[in-house]
Order: sequence, then structure tokens, then C-alpha cells
Amino acid sequence: MNQLETMLQDAKRVVLLGHVHPDGDCVGSCLAAFNYIRARYEDKQVDVCLEPASKKLAFLSGYDSIHHEIPEEKEYDLCICLDSSDKERLGEFGVLLDGAKQSICIDHHITNTRYAMENVVESSASSTCEVLFGQMDERWVDKSIAECIYTGIVHDTGVFKFSNTSAKTMMIAGKMMERGIDFGRIIDESFFQKNYLQTQILGRALLESITFLDKRCIFSVVSKKDMEFFGVENKDLDGIVDQLRVIEGVECAIFLYEIDNHVYKASLRSNTQVDVSKIASYFGGGGHVRAAGCTMSGSIHDVINNLSEHIEKQLA
Ligand code: AMP
Ligand code: MN
Ligand code: MN
Repeated sequence: MNQLETMLQDAKRVVLLGHVHPDGDCVGSCLAAFNYIRARYEDKQVDVCLEPASKKLAFLSGYDSIHHEIPEEKEYDLCICLDSSDKERLGEFGVLLDGAKQSICIDHHITNTRYAMENVVESSASSTCEVLFGQMDERWVDKSIAECIYTGIVHDTGVFKFSNTSAKTMMIAGKMMERGIDFGRIIDESFFQKNYLQTQILGRALLESITFLDKRCIFSVVSKKDMEFFGVENKDLDGIVDQLRVIEGVECAIFLYEIDNHVYKASLRSNTQVDVSKIASYFGGGGHVRAAGCTMSGSIHDVINNLSEHIEKQLA
């Protein structure tokens, strides 16, 4: 029996947690686990607690059951943490991990700190959904679970094109397709589709982007004022950094948005050379070799200078 199944045996009350600003892999893995446990272990009580996620993921089964507040009965037999590299990434729901009798973390971040009692971390996996699938009995993976897993894989691989995509990733995606999911629709509507405002802010960010280090790096910033002006929230900015990364000649792309006065969320992406997880970790964040993030404070000038110094060292 694998780690997840073993942990589940004695647990009556189970809680599933993911990271703050939940993305497709986070919501996909949490809901895949939710639907799986409900189907396979009918007698267990299972809750999912996450910050509100994009409405584009609302088609996933269980989306409407997600708790956005800490439930009143806080004590769980088992806490399952998905797609979160460290305890802080669990945000306010981290208290549920503290209160749980047992815990297991299922993740794929190279910067994972092994903060749970049991840790299943595969840093070469495309996504947490891929790792989670390895912990499931395939016979119980029905269409609703397949939709969640496929969505997580699609989002974390940028539709099967990032370097984290392996033959195994494709094989699992193929197995999900065999369950009859509408894969084209999942890709278009949950990944590529943007509403009008999201498209406008993308345009603005691209228009105002600035290259540095001999055009091998590029950055763009969206301030709080810009966000107010365009009427967008943090989650409307997804995908901007990926557009910057695919510009010809660019090795490293940085996208910043202001979360507080002079405090920025930084998204870092690289193509072949720069290990951005190292840089993000240095500044207290984390992630993967080609995609990472952190929070930075200071003026834009300082933030870019600080990041640039580390990128330059790696490019040398
Ligand atoms: P993002 O740039 O937010 O799309 O994140 C890219 C990758 O880095 C994702 O796998 C995130 O989970 C991870 N990441 C982003 N921000 C942080 C952070 N502050 N701490 C740890 N990991 C992060
Ligand atoms: Mn994630
Ligand atoms: Mn992930």
C-alpha cells in the first residue's frame, strides 16, 4: 500500500489543503483527492479548505464544496497538504495542519521543506496532480477525478510544453482522456480563455515591459493603481509572465505586481539556463527550476536590481 492509502486507513475526518492564491494544479489536486476519497471511502468525512480560486475552475466536481473559512470543528485525523512547498504557503489554513493527528504532504516543488509527518515529493513530476495519481488506485479514478487531474497537469505544464513534461506525464494525461473527459474544452476554457479586462491588462503589461541584461531578461510591473484602473484582481494576472518568457532572445522573464505599498509578488520564468528556484529561495520564496516566485519589497528599481544581480551571476 502506498503512503496516501496507508494514512487514509485509520482516518475518519480528513482535511485537504493547498497553497495561497490557488492555481489549476492546486485546485485540481485538492478536488481530485476530495472526489477520490469520497468515492473510495464513503464513511470518511472530508473537507477542502482553500482561498477562493478562479471561476474558470468552477466546472471541476467539488468546486462548490470548497470551504474558504476555517471550519468550526477544527480537529482532523488527517491533514493532506497538496502543491505547497512549505507551511507558510498554506496561509491561514496552516492551523489545521498543526491541529491534525496525522499529516501527509504531496508535492512536486524542488524547494519543498518536508514539513508534514509523511512527505511524498517528486521534484521531477510535472505537477502535484501527477504525483497524486501515483498514490491512487487507478480503478477508482472516474471521469470527475480525471477532469481534476488533467486540469492540474495542463495548467502546470502550460499545456504539455514546459520542460517538466515527461513521457509519464503524457501517459497519465492519456489515461485521463480514456475516461471520456472533454480535453479540448478544458484546455480552452480553463487555460487559454481570458475575459476582456484580463486581455487589456495583459496588453498593458506587454506594452510597458522593459528589457535588461542585453535583452536577455525582461520585466513588467502592474501597480495597485493599474489594477484599480483596469478593475482587475491578482488572479487576473495569470499568464502574463509566460507571454514575456516566449519573446525571442529572452532567457529570463520577471513579472511583478504590487500587493501592498512597495511590496511586490514576483513571478520568475527561465528558458534554458537560469535556475529561478534558487533566486526565489534566496528571497524567501520557492518553486521550480524554470518557474518560481517570491515576495519582494522596496522600489521597483531596487527589486529589479536585486533580482538582476542574481540572474547575471548565473548567466556569466
Ligand atoms: P507563480 O510565479 O506564482 O506562477 O509561481 C511559480 C511557481 O513558484 C509555482 O510552482 C509556485 O508554487 C511557486 N511559488 C510562487 N511564489 C512562491 C512563494 N512565495 N514561495 C514558494 N513558492 C512559490
Ligand atoms: Mn501551484
Ligand atoms: Mn504545482
